[in-house]
Amino acid sequence: MLTSELLKKKRDGYELSSSEIKYIIEGLSNNNVSDVQASAFLMACCTKGLSSDEITALTFAMRDSGKKFDFSGVPYKKVDKHSTGGVGDKISLLLTPICMEYDIAVPMISGRGLGHTGGTADKLEAISGFKIKLHHDVYKKLLIKNRVFMACQTDEIAPADKKLYFLRDVTGTVESTGLICASILSKKLAEDLDALVIDLKVGQGAFMQTINEAYELAEVMKSVASLAGLKLHIIFSSMKQPLGYKIGNWLEIEEVLDCLSGNCPDDIRRLTVILATAMLDCAGISSDNDATAESVSRVLDSGKAYDNFIKMIESQGGNLDQSKIKYKNYPKFSIIANDSGYITQIDTLYTGITGIMLKAGRQDINERIDYGAGIILKKKVGDAVEKGEVLAVLKSKDSNLFKPAADLLSSSMIISPDKPEPDKLILDEWMI
Ligand code: URA
Repeated sequence: MLTSELLKKKRDGYELSSSEIKYIIEGLSNNNVSDVQASAFLMACCTKGLSSDEITALTFAMRDSGKKFDFSGVPYKKVDKHSTGGVGDKISLLLTPICMEYDIAVPMISGRGLGHTGGTADKLEAISGFKIKLHHDVYKKLLIKNRVFMACQTDEIAPADKKLYFLRDVTGTVESTGLICASILSKKLAEDLDALVIDLKVGQGAFMQTINEAYELAEVMKSVASLAGLKLHIIFSSMKQPLGYKIGNWLEIEEVLDCLSGNCPDDIRRLTVILATAMLDCAGISSDNDATAESVSRVLDSGKAYDNFIKMIESQGGNLDQSKIKYKNYPKFSIIANDSGYITQIDTLYTGITGIMLKAGRQDINERIDYGAGIILKKKVGDAVEKGEVLAVLKSKDSNLFKPAADLLSSSMIISPDKPEPDKLILDEWMI
């Protein structure tokens, strides 16, 4: 086969066979397919779309590009959660320490920043010393010891997703139902899971802007997961405004520590409890979801989840005290309200882009991110604001970045005279 002929076929809107898709994905590992060709493939997938057979073939080829875990000795149900991508979404970092209190194993493979959204792997790497890339056997030992580990795609685990993910991030090829499904499920199918909870983000700050687009992604995930024998539980949640108040890698770790210390914004708390309950339900811990939700809230409030978080971070080499010193006294810039009224909208896509302008995310594949950079929102949708009050604070190592980033964010925070109706956080739920 010739890669360029396959690219022309996809470019012209023809369906690729599963062996042709396998050839492209295997070519990523054996260097028969270059990054340039892979980017052309991704763009053709975005513009021409992928059939359900192509999505299945792509997911399985990507899963098979690396090693699969074998957790046969682990005495608990293995359940993970994955978000389709949001702004300020640090929920995975709250779910793992909560789950450590229960008889459930969470082998979590997360992604990095993608498009305008943040990634759990980058947030963890903001912590001094934290090692997200470990040997396959070390992850297994951690799962036995702590019942959780936090990993990302490596040259060993889901390597095809690692490569394609970086390329999608910088080539405008993220928003494709088929590519999102293959990216998420390829790594999750390498985890030897019993069940997966998906937080399917919907709205202007998500890749799925409408509930119908979200249902389309849910349908393809459902069909691939059922062929692979993986149980799915999908929560459709709103991404109409950022989650919580902090956006940026270290800033989100700070907010996680706040949440685990009894100071959790309402949206983060509600979503965390719902997703943790879904994970525990999938693990067969209890079918009484109200009782589980109460138990999860108690774990969050009692400080047990805080202690578990510290244990999890230290087990993977992280040092939170050192990190606190490192990010202290970071340059800041305040955005001031030029009107009084209520915040009626925060453009979540532009908020994510503001973070990238501050270098909290990547614009190019080899760009180094500024882990301390980001945004602290002082107001959320529905809050009253007086002219002259601080709307948000920007942080970055490079103060030259403040002015353009502040211009974008202040135009994204709309102030109007009337208080808006509150939006729904949870839009739907499917158990498959
Ligand atoms: N998360 C992933 O791992 N991949 C995507 O494409 C989107 C969200």
